[in-house]
Amino acid sequence: MRRGCTSLGDISCDECHRTIPHGERYLIIEGQDGVELRLCVECSLNRGYARYRKEKGKEILTFFPGEDDVQ
Ligand SMILES: [Zn+2]
Repeated sequence: MRRGCTSLGDISCDECHRTIPHGERYLIIEGQDGVELRLCVECSLNRGYARYRKEKGKEILTFFPGEDDVQ
């Protein structure tokens, strides 16, 4: 399961370990055994879990829903 969230400033990325600043989007991935991983935008993009799309001249970040995850 994946869901996009907005940081309250008190969390860090489990991949690159940088602090995710207040107001920045991040992704929660629930892996096997119910372990949750938090990925910052950059790591989400690197892993292919998110992408930017252009809409009305703005770049909008989209997190892919996790329907392809194996339950
Ligand atoms: Zn990261």
